[in-house]
Amino acid sequence: MHGEDASTKNSAPPEVDSEEEIPEDHPRYQDLITRHRIEAGVEKGITHLQGMHAEGRGSAFDYLLGETTIPTADAAEKAAAAQLLLADQPVLSVNGNVAALVPSEITELAEAVDADLEINLFNRTDERLQRIADHLKEHGATDLKGLDADAKIPELDHGRGLVDEDGIYSADVVLVPLEDGDRAEALDAMGKTEIVIDLNPLSRSPQTADIPIVDNILRAVPNITEHAQDLKGRSESNLQEIVNSFDPESHLTAAEDRIRTGESKPES
Ligand code: ATP
Repeated sequence: MHGEDASTKNSAPPEVDSEEEIPEDHPRYQDLITRHRIEAGVEKGITHLQGMHAEGRGSAFDYLLGETTIPTADAAEKAAAAQLLLADQPVLSVNGNVAALVPSEITELAEAVDADLEINLFNRTDERLQRIADHLKEHGATDLKGLDADAKIPELDHGRGLVDEDGIYSADVVLVPLEDGDRAEALDAMGKTEIVIDLNPLSRSPQTADIPIVDNILRAVPNITEHAQDLKGRSESNLQEIVNSFDPESHLTAAEDRIRTGESKPES
């Protein structure tokens, strides 16, 4: 957090075997949980080593954001909830980092908005796919897509282009957290309505998204679920109004300002 002294920054417990050992009052609690979950994901064979690198980058941006959900991110999360509720066929894409960081939370979101979960890996192997599927099932997921991979996103080579025909391929709204820019652009070119969670507002994925969410996935996913539970039962026109009133550009600008200056601009 901003303003802490060097002694608190250096007080991270060196090794923890389980999350419960991380003290909840530690000033970097969320970051320590994140590191622990990614490390456990690598050990369990569900997260690729490159996922650790991606997480390090995210962690730096979150530090500069103040490890908080800024107001425009909350508005983005509400718009995402409304968009998922409006969708005919929403799909939540899960990669190795997402599975390691928010396995229960993403399953709860899928239930709240009646979406499918689809495993989609950059570094795709059958062993990793199976381990991720087992891990998600241990956390409550029942029906998973991504194992058939019987369709292909046009213009994307290798395993990263493989998707399920009755999943991401035919979905109208896709949530793609922690996604690489190429895949986000290719999904956009297919005409999907894309919701992206990414802590870097300058990355291509949030810049391509219809609804970019610059927030830590650990905070973003449960907050989208909470909004979805509040919004359930609202009329289509009301949900559409919420989506229409969200401005992606001003959210990206607010997040970048916050990261660069540490300050939020007053609402105009
Ligand atoms: P691009 O191709 O668009 O430039 P990239 O190369 O940055 O994307 P990756 O490294 O594959 O893409 O994606 C990882 C992204 O996920 C990074 O932008 C990183 O900031 C973000 N990220 C990492 N951890 C988290 C997290 N816990 N919550 C949200 N975003 C995160």
